[in-house]
Amino acid sequence: MRYLVTGGAGFIGSHLCEQLLDLGHEVLALDDLSTGRFENVAALEDRPGFELRVASVTDAGVVEPCVVDCRAIFHLASAVGVRLVVDEPVKTIETIVGGTDVVLRAAARYRRPVVLTSTSEVYGKSEKIPFSEGDDCVMGPTTTRRWAYACAKALDEFLALAHWYESRLPVVVARLFNTVGPRQTGRYGMVVPRFVEQALAGEPITVYGDGRQSRCFAHVLDVVDALIALIGRPEAHGQVFNIGNDEEITIRDLAERVRGLTGARSTIRMVPYTEAYTAGFEDMVRRVPDLSKINRLIGYAPRRDLDQILADVIAEHKNDRHLPE
Ligand code: UDP
Repeated sequence: MRYLVTGGAGFIGSHLCEQLLDLGHEVLALDDLSTGRFENVAALEDRPGFELRVASVTDAGVVEPCVVDCRAIFHLASAVGVRLVVDEPVKTIETIVGGTDVVLRAAARYRRPVVLTSTSEVYGKSEKIPFSEGDDCVMGPTTTRRWAYACAKALDEFLALAHWYESRLPVVVARLFNTVGPRQTGRYGMVVPRFVEQALAGEPITVYGDGRQSRCFAHVLDVVDALIALIGRPEAHGQVFNIGNDEEITIRDLAERVRGLTGARSTIRMVPYTEAYTAGFEDMVRRVPDLSKINRLIGYAPRRDLDQILADVIAEHKNDRHLPE
């Protein structure tokens, strides 16, 4: 079967392409290489059944033939992370909402199943633990740019579910919690690659705020397996699923763990939010997924724990440091 993976050269997208090829499928990856990187898929280019098309997901003239060419779609193309939306709000909102609109219109025209990847950001600043799919999304004011990311992704979800409601387009919404693993870059602020890079360089590990905020980190390969399992399940159509790991750790403890596993002598530097982000930034205190819904449908449970995840990321970064420029 031939799949379209939008955002196929991104961190998660490239692992998804690789896994689909390993399973014997063909893959057409569409990526404009804005936040995705060619190096992520360079090793796939020689594999039979893989094709990369470099173009934007907002370009309907490109997307439509890709959709025609494939039997099902994983839509991952998106601006990544909160930092980008704070720095480039117009482009970010346009890419997230416009790109999803283009993909869903083409999918609706040719009746192709779509897995739309969304984010735990849509739960906003809700303090409920854990987050279940039917819970309220609690957003801040429109005058605070960071909320545009959550709202744009929530609008994507509304649009996908609207297509399901109006024409029974088979869509599945996957809400990804913090996903980490090899190929993730620290460039957009993601904490695990940043801490690992800082530790391996012997630089201070920068913990924002008081470090008591916590997150749950899932290995990208667990996430990719769940996405592939979902696209094959008709019972998932028109539904939202959390995907992640429910092992929680504070960011301060994460810094200590990375320092321990790398054997680094780095200090841990506490950085006030006002210094780390722009004024008015609100960080989430805790973010824990309720995984019971996806567990009931596909038997999903994360297979890799935090130590394995960190070991994989550390190994990759150590390897990169030994490669010539
Ligand atoms: N964080 C940190 N130091 C860094 C980068 C991030 O302490 O160098 C914190 C950040 O404030 C947040 C957590 O790590 O509390 C996770 O950040 P990330 O950007 O990886 O994901 P998200 O905020 O989307 O959960």
